[in-house]
Amino acid sequence: MEKHVGVVIIGARVAGASLAILLGKKGKRVLLIDKASFPSDTLSTHHMSHVNYLGKLGVLEEVEAKGLRKINRMRTYIGDSFVEGPRDSYTLIPRRSYLDHILLSKACSYDGVELLAQWSVRRLLYDNDQVIGVKAVDSSGESQTVYASLVVGADGKHSNIAEWVQAGKYGEHSPLRPVFYGYYHGIEPLLEPTTEIFLKEGRIGFLFPMEPGVDCLGLEVHPDEFREFAKNPAKFEETYQTFYGMKRRLKDASLHGRIIGTPGVPNFFREPAGKGWVLIGDAAHSKDPSTGLGINDAFMQSFLLAEAIQKHDEGATWEEVMAQFKVKRDDQLMPGYRLTLDYIQSMRSWSKDEQALFQAMAANPMVWNKVIPHLPDLLKEHSANVPELYGSVEGEAKNFGLGKE
Ligand SMILES: Cc1cc2nc3c(=O)[nH]c(=O)nc-3n(C[C@H](O)[C@H](O)[C@H](O)COP(=O)(O)OP(=O)(O)OC[C@H]3O[C@@H](n4cnc5c(N)ncnc54)[C@H](O)[C@@H]3O)c2cc1C
Repeated sequence: MEKHVGVVIIGARVAGASLAILLGKKGKRVLLIDKASFPSDTLSTHHMSHVNYLGKLGVLEEVEAKGLRKINRMRTYIGDSFVEGPRDSYTLIPRRSYLDHILLSKACSYDGVELLAQWSVRRLLYDNDQVIGVKAVDSSGESQTVYASLVVGADGKHSNIAEWVQAGKYGEHSPLRPVFYGYYHGIEPLLEPTTEIFLKEGRIGFLFPMEPGVDCLGLEVHPDEFREFAKNPAKFEETYQTFYGMKRRLKDASLHGRIIGTPGVPNFFREPAGKGWVLIGDAAHSKDPSTGLGINDAFMQSFLLAEAIQKHDEGATWEEVMAQFKVKRDDQLMPGYRLTLDYIQSMRSWSKDEQALFQAMAANPMVWNKVIPHLPDLLKEHSANVPELYGSVEGEAKNFGLGKE
């Protein structure tokens, strides 16, 4: 079989489906191809802090209709003490089987958008050095030849498209931390839905409230602990019981499904575009999930690419729009990337003295009176490698008339 479309997108999850929505809205002929069937899950704890993208894609109401809790507080524990505060906007934790399917249905509601699910793209088609399409096969061995003006690789961090076009990598860092997670029912909740982060013995625990009564618990451990946790899933809950308050809160809770794990996620940027091809989502930029930015970053890239395609349609050259696309993409992704790498490389345990100091500060309101006015300057001094860290605190401090102008 043979097809001719404007854009063929390989990978139909958050990156591919969101791009298809944006192009479908503009009346483009788009073919999405994915080897998976839908709805289906994928490896992800699905923390979404930038829900405004869902609004812009026209799916926010439907995602929220699942009855997800709106989380607008964040609590961070060090040992038995914690700090907590509200966030500017709320966070949702929609399961990927649900989120990806809603995005895909929205994309396919446009006349020009079509989905080939359970079809695997096996190779690219070329005219000299220009990519002009793909060859896909289904499980019965039937094949499709698809010709397109643009081939988009939204096929995840182990992207076939990236491999076939030999897209160069930069800013690379090998996986740093194994990640485990599972879904629990019946954990004793806090009064208000709150994202909870537990920093203990160099591990990072995260509790994400989903629907009422359901939470996603995650744990990033030390690299040499992967085998131990993978072999003995009970170790996951044992570790959680050592986090402040969790022994009591887990008393009547039960694990639904199993503990899922990965030895780690690679960190890199890929060259995003060439003749006839573009990469978006994890195919273009992958990083450790500890900062929960992957889904938002995939949406952001889709919006940037849709804008670039529009400019190209209006007459700008492909080279020009792709050069701008790369600069804008990296400008937007780099701060989060630097924060993520910095965060996950800190694997040391807090010393007894540091914990005691944090505890004394957390429990003594007068300390905050004295310390807060000096925090912006202190952070500025110590954030040379992560200026974004200082920038975010500085912004808040200025709102209160604190810190140096
Ligand atoms: C353990 C873990 C936890 C995470 N937690 C979070 C979190 O809390 N918040 C967050 O924002 N992000 C999180 N992430 C990251 C997030 O899951 C990814 O950033 C996101 O899934 C990237 O979406 P994507 O559409 O680019 O790729 P993917 O979701 O990987 O989708 C790629 C699709 O391409 C298809 N495909 C691949 N090759 C082919 C082919 N040859 N032919 C046809 N189809 C193909 C696959 O079947 C797949 O459906 C986590 C990641 C991991 C590993």
